[in-house]
Amino acid sequence: MKYQISINKALENFIEIEAKINVNSTEIHLQLPAWRPGRYELGNFAKNIRRFKAIAKNGELLKHRKVTKDSWKIYNTSQNTEITICYEYYANQLDAGACFINLEQIYVNPVHCFMYEVGKMDETFKVTLNVPENYIIACQLPVINKTFIAQNFDQLADSPFIASATLQHKSFKFNETTFHFWFQGKHVIDLKQLELDTLAYAKTQIDIFKEMPCKNYHFLYQMLPNAFRHGVEHADSTVIAMGQGTDSLYDDFYNDLLAISSHELFHLWNIKRIRPAEMLPYDFTKENYSTLGYVYEGVTTYYGDLMLLRSGVWSWEQYAESWNNDFQRHITNLGNKNYSVAESSFDTWLDGYVVGVPERKVSIYIEGMLAAMLADLIIIKNSNGVYSLDNVMFDLYHLFYKNNIGYTENDYKMLLEKYGKESFEHYFEDIIWGKNNLIAELQNILPYFDCYIRNNKLTKTLDSENNLLFNFLLNR
Ligand SMILES: [Zn+2]
Repeated sequence: MKYQISINKALENFIEIEAKINVNSTEIHLQLPAWRPGRYELGNFAKNIRRFKAIAKNGELLKHRKVTKDSWKIYNTSQNTEITICYEYYANQLDAGACFINLEQIYVNPVHCFMYEVGKMDETFKVTLNVPENYIIACQLPVINKTFIAQNFDQLADSPFIASATLQHKSFKFNETTFHFWFQGKHVIDLKQLELDTLAYAKTQIDIFKEMPCKNYHFLYQMLPNAFRHGVEHADSTVIAMGQGTDSLYDDFYNDLLAISSHELFHLWNIKRIRPAEMLPYDFTKENYSTLGYVYEGVTTYYGDLMLLRSGVWSWEQYAESWNNDFQRHITNLGNKNYSVAESSFDTWLDGYVVGVPERKVSIYIEGMLAAMLADLIIIKNSNGVYSLDNVMFDLYHLFYKNNIGYTENDYKMLLEKYGKESFEHYFEDIIWGKNNLIAELQNILPYFDCYIRNNKLTKTLDSENNLLFNFLLNR
């Protein structure tokens, strides 16, 4: 399919989309995704589409009907070798996962507004932006003459782009990889410092997996004038929407930006490549239920902060402050007495991204982070610091992703047991599937690392250089 994107209706927040489709049948069935990877709930993107039309080669309108809430059939196409469809997409949601257009920029997450022909997800998709000459385009796919090509629909859906005349670009190299910063919107970030910090935590992450899976990695930063925090991961990029970029509490803002950036970079391995079996491949038409959110979000949340500590970007105090905030969320959500993290993961499709009914469920991020920490500490303790959760993640990447295999709960459990040298039966029964007793488990194991939880805060008993937890977490 060949897409053309136009910005004539930017003032009304509508993106004009046109696609040319080769025809070799009497009808064409088009599908728009019902959700986007990274947010495991239905998105109902089709509600943003208006003025859908299908046009024959001779200019006549072709009959079409919707067959589900987000798919269309176009009839009597056999007289044509090619037809054109066009529609307008309402883009007025400036966050890390949606679409936005105004007179300054067009920002698109293609999974929201691009369709594929059913049965032909593996064809190539060519996208051309009809934007002014001075617009720069940020995208993980190579852009030539305001055009990029995705090898299949999965790649297109996963390739957000920003086009604007005010986009700021900076890149730097580490070994074979070039990292790119793209900034849209006002900010006061010291880009040299950001480069040093990014390089430090990125190196630490690469060190776990022993390779960077892509040659170019793009951070697409949307800097907003209002307080905001949102990030979404992609195969070779991330979009991070943050505000307020000119905040007076600059240090807090900057540390938060690093935390979210480190989290999203870790997703490059954990979920974009290491994938639960039930999400390989993604089915864009319906819910992709998984109970493994404590791995794809929990382990990622744990490592996001840990990588900042281990790389020296964060001090122990900064790490502990972030940990304490997460722990506070754990103890104030009594949902963990009613619903497990695995069940809550399954239910993100129902109400995973709203507060929901009191005490019904837990956060896969917070519970998953603490569960990941407990698993890491068990492995480190039992192996005397020889192994850690790093080894489990390394194996998931090299033994599963590299062989194009999705992992199951049992695979993850077997790897925890391989390095933890004990049965994780109880861990899965209680922490993952039960009304967990995380606090007691952590309080049991932390003293081994010269740490404990006092007044709901992570506290060291010894100075950093003598502290076991500090040393084990840092010196891998
Ligand atoms: Zn995440």
